[in-house]
Amino acid sequence: MPATFTYNFDTAAYKGAVTINTGLFIGGEWVDPIEGELIEIRNPATDEVITKVAGGGKADVDRAVQAAKKAYKTTWGLKTTGRERGKALAKLADLIEQNLDEFTALESLNVGKVYANAKHVDVTGTVTVLRYYAGWADKIHGKTIETGENKFAYTRHEPYGVVGSIIPWNFPMNMLAWKIGPAMACGNTVVLKPSEFTPLTALRLADLVNEAGFPPGTLNIVNGYGSSVGQAISEHMQIEKVAFTGSTLTGRRIMKAAADSNLKAVTLELGGKSPTIIFDDADLEQAIKWACMGIFFNMGQVCTAGSRIFVQEGVYDKFLEHFTAAAKGLAEKTGDPFASGTQHGPLVSQAQFDRVMSYIKSGKEEGATVHTGGERHGDKGFFVQPTIFTDAHPGMKIVQEEIFGPVGVVIKFKTEEEVIEQANDTIYGLASHIFSENTSRAIRVAHAIESGMVWVNCANTVEVNVPFGGYKQSGNGRELGEYALETYTQVKAVHINIGQKL
Ligand code: NAD
Repeated sequence: MPATFTYNFDTAAYKGAVTINTGLFIGGEWVDPIEGELIEIRNPATDEVITKVAGGGKADVDRAVQAAKKAYKTTWGLKTTGRERGKALAKLADLIEQNLDEFTALESLNVGKVYANAKHVDVTGTVTVLRYYAGWADKIHGKTIETGENKFAYTRHEPYGVVGSIIPWNFPMNMLAWKIGPAMACGNTVVLKPSEFTPLTALRLADLVNEAGFPPGTLNIVNGYGSSVGQAISEHMQIEKVAFTGSTLTGRRIMKAAADSNLKAVTLELGGKSPTIIFDDADLEQAIKWACMGIFFNMGQVCTAGSRIFVQEGVYDKFLEHFTAAAKGLAEKTGDPFASGTQHGPLVSQAQFDRVMSYIKSGKEEGATVHTGGERHGDKGFFVQPTIFTDAHPGMKIVQEEIFGPVGVVIKFKTEEEVIEQANDTIYGLASHIFSENTSRAIRVAHAIESGMVWVNCANTVEVNVPFGGYKQSGNGRELGEYALETYTQVKAVHINIGQKL
């Protein structure tokens, strides 16, 4: 019988005890792993161990797949109506909302998120996504296609069956909802692996799954490492589709595993090196605020972060002065994620801290200038100061590679043509942010940029009903909106002869 764990919060933002089960959630029950090991979960603000959770292995993935398959064939999938599926998703959303502060506290504790942001973006955002897909569940249908006088055809949008979901640590609850919302609305059953760094909210949510009315086995949560549980999901012969968010390197591995096993469908939301482009004719005050949010929100651990900030020469000096002041202001509000007034917390882990600091070191070594920041904040936890580089050149690592931390590079440009070329000079193509009061220019540039998402005069304002996803090595497939439903269904064409004779 897996252990439970209670955390007593006594913070400025939240006081209360939260209990989670630390086992694997398979077939509607908490179980111990067949194989695997305990994983230490740390508080990134202090580097203290919060608890240990069970990490499974290949045999546990198989057990979860068998439970998911049984549920798909007997109680979910095409055995349910869309209305019933929608009802369960909506109930799950309600239950999370009833425990909003509890989920927020866990997410802040485990990920180091600023409490107010976690509440608004992570937990409320999760509720919104689940409700949105609850609404779609009874609106998924095919078409009738006329093919002549004696024949017609119709299409059915059928679920895949068992779907694997592998999610990262930067938005653990949101990523879970983005995956299970459309997957389950369409009738798939799910085997989900949270990040080994941030499993706590997924474990709390699992406790609500039965109460929400999902039959056992429809949603299974198997914690563990990528090399064991993630790999086992990617290569499982009875998982028909895998959806992944995380690094491009891992995305490549998952696609290979899918190709070498059963050619399962794969959708990937990967990294980015998104440009923020500020033209001379921008509303500069607004552009500074959005650019600041665009790179520093969630301590830069955002796949659409505007990490390359191109500023036209006429406003460059003024932009840099005020942008630097904004970054310094944020630096002064760095600290305990639960304290009121905190706006900048720690990075998620020692590994991510080391990675970001090594990029800062490489920027310095390659000759870029640290305009502000560039150091660790404090002496415990994984805090990195909001950092701005200038004097950077296109070939530098800090310009080319995804840092995934609070590190922006500000680059001066002269012309529209030049900035389009520079903005597109990347292997990635996830997002871009354009600031101009000239609508024709903004639209022209939006169309010329090679990215799956463009924000004009704003940044990273994700909307539940608008597709999210990338071009180039930022991935394939789209999440959110109606578009996501296409990636969780396959089309069956049924031909009906009503009189054609041979
Ligand atoms: P990652 O890609 O290693 O991990 C993401 C998920 O994939 C985790 O659940 C992990 O356990 C799993 N995984 C790892 N190896 C696997 C494998 N071989 N097969 C199947 N699953 C596997 O990302 P990370 O280590 O959490 O972060 C590293 C970098 O990834 C970050 O610095 C950042 O650049 C990028 N990242 C991007 C996003 C995004 O939203 N695009 C999110 C998180 C991280």
